[in-house]
Amino acid sequence: MKNCKVLLVEDIESEAKLVMKHLKRVSGWRFSVDHCDRLGAGVQRAIEQHYDVILLDLNLPDCAGIEVCQRMHKAVPHTPVVVLTNQNSDELGTKAMREGAQDYLIKREVDGPTLGRAIRYAIERGQTEEALRESEQRYSLAVSGANDGIWDWSLTDNRVHFSARWKAILGYSEREIADRIEEWFERIDTRDRELFDEALNHHLEDDSSHFECEYRVIARGDEVRWVLSRGLAVRDDGGQPLRIAGSMTDITRRKQTEARLLHDAMHDALTGLPNRNLFIDRLELALRRFRRDSGRLFAVLFFDLDRFKHINDSLGHAVGDELLAQIAGRLNSCLRPGDTLARLGGDEFGIVLNDIDGPTDAIYVVERLQEALAEEVEIETHSVYTSASIGIAICSELYRTSDEIVRDADIAMYRAKNSGHATYAVFDTSMHDQAMLQHRMETDLRRALERGEFDIFYQPIIAMDSERIQGFEALLRWQHPSRGLIMPDDFIGLVEETTLVIPIGWWVIERACHQLATWQRLFPLDPPLAMSVNVSGKLFFTDDMAKRLAALLEDCNIPRNSFRLEITERVVMDHEDLVLNALSDLRDIGVELHIDDFGTGYSSLSYLQRFKYDSLKIDRSFVSTMSEKVDSSAIVEAIIKLGSTLGMKVIAEGVETQEQVSRLRAMKCPEAQGFWFSQPLHHDAVNDFLQADAVSVLQGKAH
Ligand code: C2E
Ligand code: MG
Ligand code: MG
Repeated sequence: MKNCKVLLVEDIESEAKLVMKHLKRVSGWRFSVDHCDRLGAGVQRAIEQHYDVILLDLNLPDCAGIEVCQRMHKAVPHTPVVVLTNQNSDELGTKAMREGAQDYLIKREVDGPTLGRAIRYAIERGQTEEALRESEQRYSLAVSGANDGIWDWSLTDNRVHFSARWKAILGYSEREIADRIEEWFERIDTRDRELFDEALNHHLEDDSSHFECEYRVIARGDEVRWVLSRGLAVRDDGGQPLRIAGSMTDITRRKQTEARLLHDAMHDALTGLPNRNLFIDRLELALRRFRRDSGRLFAVLFFDLDRFKHINDSLGHAVGDELLAQIAGRLNSCLRPGDTLARLGGDEFGIVLNDIDGPTDAIYVVERLQEALAEEVEIETHSVYTSASIGIAICSELYRTSDEIVRDADIAMYRAKNSGHATYAVFDTSMHDQAMLQHRMETDLRRALERGEFDIFYQPIIAMDSERIQGFEALLRWQHPSRGLIMPDDFIGLVEETTLVIPIGWWVIERACHQLATWQRLFPLDPPLAMSVNVSGKLFFTDDMAKRLAALLEDCNIPRNSFRLEITERVVMDHEDLVLNALSDLRDIGVELHIDDFGTGYSSLSYLQRFKYDSLKIDRSFVSTMSEKVDSSAIVEAIIKLGSTLGMKVIAEGVETQEQVSRLRAMKCPEAQGFWFSQPLHHDAVNDFLQADAVSVLQGKAH
């Protein structure tokens, strides 16, 4: 017995009864019939309830003719309709079939079997049509992505169809997943369930043109996969969704790639630490937290490894890389999980230190970090030692942006660096003022170079035995338009902090070279007049230094050994590993190297012996205290003896008195320089000086 729900729309009571009577006689079927006598009521019923078939009289009080069929079909397009007509209206019946009816019957001819057959055919035809439509839709979806799984959910009866591919994406075979909607929803990762529901409901409520959601599902074996589901609802005239069908795509690979790219964009490849981007992110988070709750203090630490470049240059990049990686690990082990250690580039690291009580906490951590860094690092066969200069900035209400904190931590770091290795400095506002001043100076320096505000003064260097000029030291001066004459001690340190150190350095060298060429031409002496130029470490250790200098000397036609570079003992000591190379380059081109301010830096004697500089310049602090209570005569004498033993010349600086001259002469100091002989002079004054000296030389020869 098959059950069948019928809606009968018929206004004439007797006709309705007759139809019901016939229905009872259809064998094999049990019909339950709802009856309406108006089209309006019939349509209402058909929408509210599901009927297997509608028997529809075309001659009703509230509507008649083909329009009856049209209205009913429009309301319930998927319910099969059999039209009942009066005698001889074949034409109307055919028209009705064109309007969506499955069949038509002439009332007079109706009997049980005819009615039964018509209903059966109508239902079957309706189902075939429905299946066809569904499969057409599925097909079109399938075409849109062969790799996609297809789903189709009928909301009226809650039946679902999942394609084989849909199930395969979740790791199951066709028979392992039933056609129940729970099979889907219950596999959605709880983390994404809300998102999914929202997207789906949005579309079902007609608030979005289609349903689309990327979410995680729990596939076979609890494996988490990423999928993209899309779908489109089919609605009735009232806009109510009847079905929703769509696709599901496996996007796990794409998501993994995205995650990797995101990770790479936020991390440093060498150390695996967060990079600058992520560092700024974390810093901004800390800043926001602090603004909400001013009790949540944090600090930013900036640091820079001391001497890293030299380790890199002398031991190679592989060792440098390994050192950075090991240091990253060491630093990390000193921090708490909530802190962020990042590599900001090169040998620069940054830390966001969260939840501290105040500066003392930060300093405590910094000391721990410095201790950790001080331990030796073993790389291959090398034992490497490093240290770091650390700048600290503590959060405050005054900071509006993360940039400002970073800037201050950076300023503090520079301050730390300038006060020696392995130190730290906590930012205070005076540093900011200092930095501003420095910035202005830098602009000024650039302008000075462009507008020719620099000048060179030349201080004679005297041979002690003959008291004659043997050469000059070139000393930089800055004729500032508003501040007047500025001495090098007040700006050379600054120049060395900037990129201007190279162009200004070369400007001095070139200028001094040309000047020397002129004087050598005007005053040909034997040996020829010499020129000493002070160079900073940064310039001295540039790769093309020797080559460029050789070309310049060639151009000016200057004998190589009459040109000297002075670098301070401190620079030599900080770069012991590089000095040997630079020295051999200079030897190759024949230029001399003089060690300036000797005695202040405590060079090791073994290095002195190895390097064999051309000359040591005794720092003037020793010369000036020779005759006072702190008698440094012994030191001066020791340096002079050391020089003569190791085959180096010695020049005493800062000679101011006759007494100093006598003592130095007694100690057999070969050369000297100082106000006693001459102040540094403008080149015009030097001409006069040389003229006088040349006369004395000539006079000397005449005797
Ligand atoms: P320095 O190389 O030791 O130069 C000697 C300094 O001592 C000069 O000061 C000179 O004027 C001063 N001096 C000479 N004789 C006497 C004396 O009898 N008594 C006293 N009290 N001082 C004397 P200046 O010119 O101010 O230069 C200071 C330093 O600036 C130089 O020390 C040098 O290290 C640096 N410097 C000068 N010119 C340059 C340059 O072109 N490049 C670089 N990198 N540094 C430079
Ligand atoms: Mg000097
Ligand atoms: Mg000196």
